[in-house]
Amino acid sequence: MSPTYVQIAVNVSQKNNIFDYHLPPDLEGEVLPGCLVEVPFGRQTVQGVVLSFVETPSIPVTKPVSSLIDPQPVVLPWLLKIAKRMSEETLSPLAPCLGLMIPTGLYQQADTLFKTVPTDLVKFNDLSSLQKRIIQKIDERGGALRGRQLKTAFPRQNWQAAVKNLQQKGLLVSQPVLPPPNVRPRTVRTAQYAAIPEMLTAYLDSQRQNAAAERRRKMLDFLQQEPWPVEVSWVYAASGGGKLADLLHLAEAGLVVLGENETWRDPLEKIETQVFDPPILTPAQQAVWDRVEEKICNPVNGRPTSPILLHGVTGSGKTEIYLRAVDSVIKQGRQAIILVPEIALTPQTVRRFMARFPGRVGLMHSQLSPGERYDTWRRARAGQISVIIGARSALFCPLSNPGLVVIDECHETTYYQDDFQPYYNAIRAALWFCEETNSLLLLGSATPPLEWREYARTHGWDILSLPQRVLAHRQAIEDLLADSNHLPANNEEAVSLPLPPVSLIDMRQELTAGNRSMFSRELQDALKQVLDTGRQAILFLNRRGSATYVFCRHCGHVLRCPRCDLPLTFHAGANLQTLRCHTCAYTRQMPKTCPACSSTQIRQYGAGTEKVEAEVKQLFPQARTLRWDYESTRYKGAHDIILTHFSNHQADILIGTQMLAKGLDLPLVTLVGVVLADVGLNLPDFRAAEKTFQLLMQVAGRAGRSALGGKVVIQTFMPEHYAIKAAAAYDYEGFITRELAYRKDIKYPPFYRLARLEYRHSNPAAAEKKALDMAHRLQEAIDSGEYTSSELIGPAPCFFSKINGVYRWQIILRSPDPLKILHQLRTDDWFVLIDPINLL
Ligand code: ADP
Ligand code: ZN
Ligand code: ZN
Repeated sequence: MSPTYVQIAVNVSQKNNIFDYHLPPDLEGEVLPGCLVEVPFGRQTVQGVVLSFVETPSIPVTKPVSSLIDPQPVVLPWLLKIAKRMSEETLSPLAPCLGLMIPTGLYQQADTLFKTVPTDLVKFNDLSSLQKRIIQKIDERGGALRGRQLKTAFPRQNWQAAVKNLQQKGLLVSQPVLPPPNVRPRTVRTAQYAAIPEMLTAYLDSQRQNAAAERRRKMLDFLQQEPWPVEVSWVYAASGGGKLADLLHLAEAGLVVLGENETWRDPLEKIETQVFDPPILTPAQQAVWDRVEEKICNPVNGRPTSPILLHGVTGSGKTEIYLRAVDSVIKQGRQAIILVPEIALTPQTVRRFMARFPGRVGLMHSQLSPGERYDTWRRARAGQISVIIGARSALFCPLSNPGLVVIDECHETTYYQDDFQPYYNAIRAALWFCEETNSLLLLGSATPPLEWREYARTHGWDILSLPQRVLAHRQAIEDLLADSNHLPANNEEAVSLPLPPVSLIDMRQELTAGNRSMFSRELQDALKQVLDTGRQAILFLNRRGSATYVFCRHCGHVLRCPRCDLPLTFHAGANLQTLRCHTCAYTRQMPKTCPACSSTQIRQYGAGTEKVEAEVKQLFPQARTLRWDYESTRYKGAHDIILTHFSNHQADILIGTQMLAKGLDLPLVTLVGVVLADVGLNLPDFRAAEKTFQLLMQVAGRAGRSALGGKVVIQTFMPEHYAIKAAAAYDYEGFITRELAYRKDIKYPPFYRLARLEYRHSNPAAAEKKALDMAHRLQEAIDSGEYTSSELIGPAPCFFSKINGVYRWQIILRSPDPLKILHQLRTDDWFVLIDPINLL
């Protein structure tokens, strides 16, 4: 009888990675499609995923599969199909697509277990000294050790060869193992204030004025208010960038005591949940819910016909719809997947799901350790999870019978993976997923991306809307404020709220009027009022770091990174001013004179979070500020800490960048100030206007989410720009109409599809030559296939033309079907992005 043949996607880096193997007798009947196996490949043993059984192999002599890594399939049947489709439509090899579906922990965990076989002394004495030591070591440890343990025990020695030889002699046997990930208690460091007043005064007097002293002083200020030991990450957050070294210094001086607490690696452990009854829906929510429920409960031929696009302003109650949809899917014995842009930024959403479905929620996101991911993945496969919440890759969690995929804030760019292969759009992948599994797809956003809005309209999706906000937090605010007579006299818990009014401020007029501050007079007044009434404000700025460009007012010279050619960013320290490149981390001191003309009129321009904070402090010394930006959130858990800090009203003004725009629901925030709306509008990218519009709408949505009301102040030098005007008027339809006409004019998506081909090389001439060659080949393909409506843009250097010393060139292919053309060419060393999210 001939063996069973299987087709396997081998996990190697080359592009063609699908090969036929056969099953050895001991694996007959054990292997299914989707199983993770080890196979011989060249001279190594590598992992692969079984794709299918084949009748006749494509090569005359097949090799046997070496072993089965996990007795159960690791990739479910529909996920195999999606991986294949993704590979075709993103021009990515199959292995990385499958990699999305297998936790890295599993790949890392694959190991071999070596067991000793009892032997006689004669045979033993014949062995090399290393071989003897290996046998002794394994026997000492109970007769079995894993390869990785041997590696640790015999560092820098060729234990592999010795082991191989021992196996040939029959003294060792081996078997592949998949040990469970280490679930070990982890300890966190804590700090507690321990100074008596005299000590503190003496210490502070002894310190010089510098950045470190300033951080430590902030740490002491913070710790002084805390009665118990506090996790050090809190202390770092409160001090705005403090480090362990600072705490050690303070401990040395006897001002704080450091300690340790035990904690566990369950990512949900810290989240307290309270179980609430679901609220009664508002009429608008009810109308939306009726339709969603019908799709879930009355599918046509087992299919929920078409997806739903839920266009609901921030705070309009979309999440409540998701919660109900999940509930009814669970009642059908199915599971749900909730994708959120960035889990660290949406702790509130996570809490609400946990409160509604206690014990059945799993989290999947990038900040989990491999062990945590692996645990969640295995719980999902074992059927212990009904709701997965996570970033884009949570879509590929092995749920046995999924029925719903929700993509919240579907305009976010994090749904497009463009940093490593496969370069894919999770919304597109979710469409395939829902087709394969008969699940309902629900996309939610306050500003649905224009392309998906058009797609929904032309493909007969339901487009449902929630135009008004829900007035929530009544109880929370009554508890927080002694005088609650601002609340509308209304006995219902939820009523509708208008969107907060927006003032658009022309900053040119502020200058003319002699106001040189980065805050307009109106914003200053509004801030003052917030502080006077004990409310909170958010100041938003879509740039990170301190003041942005440094340029010479005399000759216009802009200081750039010598490696990346991008403008450097100014950072103000207590006594040292530095310039930093945010692409490659190059750092230099701020020069005293212009390198081009020697003028001393060189200084920073624009504003970063640090500068905004400094100016707030100057205007309102009593204000408690908190920064939420790249610098202050580099460590794990920082987002949640800052957010908790702010929502506990431990700060009055939150100053932050892009991150602020996401899912925050803060009842006391009555003012949102956009320091400068224009940044980003002039980037050479066809979506610049749309991105700016979305961002402004999202940010505005942070104000006045409660009965306290609120307002938004948008400052700009371009008040006549249509994106800014539309955002200030909350005019989504107006913006879309105008933007669609523009896109049609310039022949861009959604009217055409784009592919972006990027070439990187350390030699600019080589990059250029490669790009020209490719353009030539592409043009030939276009001409020979008579793709008359396809054309090339470029080749040209990218906007970010040099990153980390590597030159980047790109070609844009504009076509109704770019894949058709690209499938004809070899694009091996190119980065090819289909429907890219930006052209920078
Ligand atoms: P979105 O997801 O659209 O931003 P949410 O679902 O978060 O909106 O709703 C905003 C706030 O209103 C939340 O605090 C939520 O608990 C509350 N809420 C939503 N629907 C209702 C309702 N029907 N009754 C009372 N409160 C509600
Ligand atoms: Zn100059
Ligand atoms: Zn750089």
